[in-house]
Amino acid sequence: MKLYNTLTKQKEDFRPVVSGEIKMYACGPTVYDLFHIGNARTFMVFDAMRRYFQYRGYHVHFVQNFTDIDDKIINKAKDQGVSAEAISEKFIKEYFLDAESLGIERADVHPKVTENISEIIDIIRVLEKKGHAYEMEGDVYFDVDSYEDYGKLSKQNLEDLQLGSRVEVDERKKSPLDFVLWKSSKPGEPSWDSPWGKGRPGWHIECSAMAKKYLGETIDIHGGGGDLVFPHHENEVAQSEAATGKPFANYWLHVGYLNVNNEKMSKSLGNFFTVRDIRKEFDLEVLRFFMLSAHYRNPLNFNKALLVSSKSGLDRLYHSKEHLDHLLKIAADKALTEEERKMEKRLLAYEERFVEKMDDDFNTADGISVIFDLVKDLNTNIDESTSKAIIHQGILLLKKLTNVLGLLEKQEEVLEEEIEALIEERQQARKAKNYKRSDEIRDQLQEMGIELMDTPQGVQWRRIS
Ligand code: AMP
Ligand code: ZN
Repeated sequence: MKLYNTLTKQKEDFRPVVSGEIKMYACGPTVYDLFHIGNARTFMVFDAMRRYFQYRGYHVHFVQNFTDIDDKIINKAKDQGVSAEAISEKFIKEYFLDAESLGIERADVHPKVTENISEIIDIIRVLEKKGHAYEMEGDVYFDVDSYEDYGKLSKQNLEDLQLGSRVEVDERKKSPLDFVLWKSSKPGEPSWDSPWGKGRPGWHIECSAMAKKYLGETIDIHGGGGDLVFPHHENEVAQSEAATGKPFANYWLHVGYLNVNNEKMSKSLGNFFTVRDIRKEFDLEVLRFFMLSAHYRNPLNFNKALLVSSKSGLDRLYHSKEHLDHLLKIAADKALTEEERKMEKRLLAYEERFVEKMDDDFNTADGISVIFDLVKDLNTNIDESTSKAIIHQGILLLKKLTNVLGLLEKQEEVLEEEIEALIEERQQARKAKNYKRSDEIRDQLQEMGIELMDTPQGVQWRRIS
């Protein structure tokens, strides 16, 4: 399997430290608000990657943190007259609600900064002892000049970086690039005791501490949105490697930015969408399908018209699956014909092609095209006379591949259950000679795009759209 590694700027063969196991860490949300569709893209990509690694037989240890202490959280808490914890707890709950609707499975651990303060302090102490950090009036900074590889992830040299950052120099820092590891707290702010007095961690150090605690000193994959390469991930590398003397993460994966109507999403431009906004109009699986239809590293342009066309693509998959499920119910158990044996071979080939695409730096766009080729083949070559075994194989393969992407997962049962319940009610109405009700139900189903057929096996339904 090949993955594009930001660290080396090329696609590389993926080899985990321990064969068959993957240690993967993704930077999670700062929990001061509902998360937006840009965040959703990044979270969803790592969820789909994890599912794919599992499908490929790896045992994946996946950690995604919550940044639950930060200026934005503290400011919101002040505005609302509540504690910072009340804000972060509320938005952690909201995160899980939206993540679930997007088909994002829970990570193995979702550590919070506030529960890992002593681990954070430990790393800062090591950095101080090794001469990579210095204290100024209760604040502790990382000394960028003390770490010679600084800039290796974002491919920038120290001089250029220093020139670029002259503007916001803090007089007390040795170098303008030095970044804060520990901040002394202002009165009334949440704070923790530390060797440098009361304060709280800077942003970057949390991920170094939590990745080490939950996954170990060297992890396989570290990821996040492309905006995090510099400074966040650059600083993580510096802190972790300066502290442990070992490589921090072997593969750095970054997700392309999501824009709206080709502009950066921003509240002031009125083109800002939370996941919750989208949920009012669309099933969130449509958003997932839309996002996975693009390669994760490319920038992605979002607008509602694109989502509408994604909906019809996803509907096509659902319709085919429902049709196949229906054919399976009425199919006969019989030996495979010559043609069906050929189809059996083609099914294997579809799965191989899917793997080939996904193995190539996780190309979900091409993976989805393979699924559509499979569906087209099934639609064309399977009908009422096809033997049960081959229909079953076709359905299993479709489910297996869509499950890797977290698609075709939720609505189907709901939809089927709803339809089956209406059909049952119609049968009861007919038995009770309530033809008015039974006709109403037939019309209602018609409107839902469902046609009823009376067959010797009983009433059956099919999609007519
Ligand atoms: P934040 O809560 O802002 O720290 O973001 C959480 C995750 O979402 C990080 O991995 C960010 O890089 C990612 N992210 C933020 N905005 C976007 C965007 N517009 N497109 C893709 N990923 C994003
Ligand atoms: Zn991070």
